[in-house]
Amino acid sequence: MPARHVLVTGASRGLGLEFVRQLLAAGDHVVATCRRPGKATALNTLAGEHPGRLHVLPLDVTDPKSHAELARELPLVLGDDGRLDLLVNNAGVLHSGERFGSLTAANFEDSFRTNASGPLLLTQALAPLLADRARVLNLSSQLGSIAGTRRFGTPSYNLSKAAQNMATVLLAHALAGRGIVVVALHPGWVQTDMGGAGADLPATEAVAGLLRVAAGLSPDDSGRFLDWQGRAVAW
Ligand code: NDP
Repeated sequence: MPARHVLVTGASRGLGLEFVRQLLAAGDHVVATCRRPGKATALNTLAGEHPGRLHVLPLDVTDPKSHAELARELPLVLGDDGRLDLLVNNAGVLHSGERFGSLTAANFEDSFRTNASGPLLLTQALAPLLADRARVLNLSSQLGSIAGTRRFGTPSYNLSKAAQNMATVLLAHALAGRGIVVVALHPGWVQTDMGGAGADLPATEAVAGLLRVAAGLSPDDSGRFLDWQGRAVAW
């Protein structure tokens, strides 16, 4: 089987970096994107170890100019006829410590751009470069589940992930004609900078689970909200 072309956002650390590691180990050709490639030490080390199979490109998911620049550069690394088989919209932000009484518009704006409109606009910009029957994985969170909310939480994150879930469903409709499957995936509570050291799962296990779920997706799954073990999450 020829190597798949895969693009991962927010690949500098955490789950994004682990996606890159496991996709490389599976033999894929990976385009790892991050805000500051010059500072992405772990990614640059991996690129040195996998010449020609890992390209590190700049991308700020909140910035449509950055999306357009990436769309212009991608054919240079994919080849003129190359298309993405898998897009992992992983980049995300959580502004911790929010309290009712001191919520700020700035946190909502940043979270919405990073977690919700960013992945939607990026997928739109890259749509011409997606292969027919490609997979788009939107890293969502159980904290975006309205039905699952039992406490006050972190509103800028909760709202933006709920909005991202709607973006997943809309993208599933927009891309259905090309057989492209778009899903919202909850990775579990994972030991990263965002999840903290006390979280349930190491990133290795969460990403292995998410990639297993991705490999088993069928067109009927498009627009669904699943966790890292393939179980449905309530909207
Ligand atoms: P981390 O905080 O560890 O890493 C976040 C990544 O997103 C970093 O690479 C960061 O880059 C990148 N990023 C943030 N903003 C932008 C931006 N504007 N443009 C490009 N990249 C950006 O988070 P995790 O790895 O834990 O989370 C990955 C995804 O999984 C997120 O979408 C998160 O919401 C989701 N998730 C995580 C859970 C967990 O328990 N960890 C639970 C549920 C969902 P930089 O290094 O430049 O800051």
